[in-house]
Amino acid sequence: MSPTTPRILAVANQKGGVGKTTAVVNLSASIAALGHRVLVIDLDPQGNASTGLGIDIRTLEHSVYDVLLHDTAIEDAVQSSSVANLFVVPANLDLAGAEIELVPAMGRETRLRRAVERVASDYAYVFIDCPPSLGLLTVNALTAAHEVLVPVQCEYYALEGLAQLLRNIELVNQNLNPTLQVSTILCQMYDSRTKLSAEVVADVRGHFGAKVLHTVIPRTVRIAEAPSFGKPVVVLDPSSVGAQAYRAAAKEVVDGRA
Ligand code: ADP
Ligand code: MG
Repeated sequence: MSPTTPRILAVANQKGGVGKTTAVVNLSASIAALGHRVLVIDLDPQGNASTGLGIDIRTLEHSVYDVLLHDTAIEDAVQSSSVANLFVVPANLDLAGAEIELVPAMGRETRLRRAVERVASDYAYVFIDCPPSLGLLTVNALTAAHEVLVPVQCEYYALEGLAQLLRNIELVNQNLNPTLQVSTILCQMYDSRTKLSAEVVADVRGHFGAKVLHTVIPRTVRIAEAPSFGKPVVVLDPSSVGAQAYRAAAKEVVDGRA
């Protein structure tokens, strides 16, 4: 890859509440703090990645919806965030209609990829926050990305559903994006007081080996409350254990560059 080619990571898991958005917000902010230009593309109609980075999604002039469905130039939708070096293509509830509106659209699976190509050389990293489904928005993310980062929650059903995600990635490999691969698994919401968390992490490592980051993200109140301040925990409370874990995970992601 040339130095002007960014790493493009789709953060995906069709389960809701596993920590996709929290991972996007904190990994991107940690990597931006290392001096890299980072772009976050919010592909969830909830817009939580956008608001978590300080963007008011009630007053958007352009959102990712306009980029995908109205041929708005992506550079017109990019906003700076509450964090230096970190930029966002925000989403709002308009995007809820996109899964259906994309169905009859020309090039429906490749719209995000074509948009990202326009701005790729401006960034070192692009993170795409996927919605909790495997519909056309997630397909657009998987088609635009080079890698998939999968957050898994340290709970009993952690691995359930991942087979379906992997099957979808294979379909995208066959039809749209032959080099896409799961590069990274991040274990989320680790509770050191329970045996279950440790068992789940061991299980995930057994399945995915070296793709699983050494760093696990603990369950902490600070991580949970940071979004209400419109800031990642790594910015809001940099010395907290959650922030330390996210910085360590981000360093592993950066060092893992092939
Ligand atoms: P997803 O994007 O997969 O739906 P989120 O990142 O929105 O998941 O996380 C779901 C909820 O869990 C949010 O309320 C978030 O603040 C909270 N959360 C995420 N990670 C942690 C953590 N490590 N500790 C405590 N709460 C967390
Ligand atoms: Mg989310």
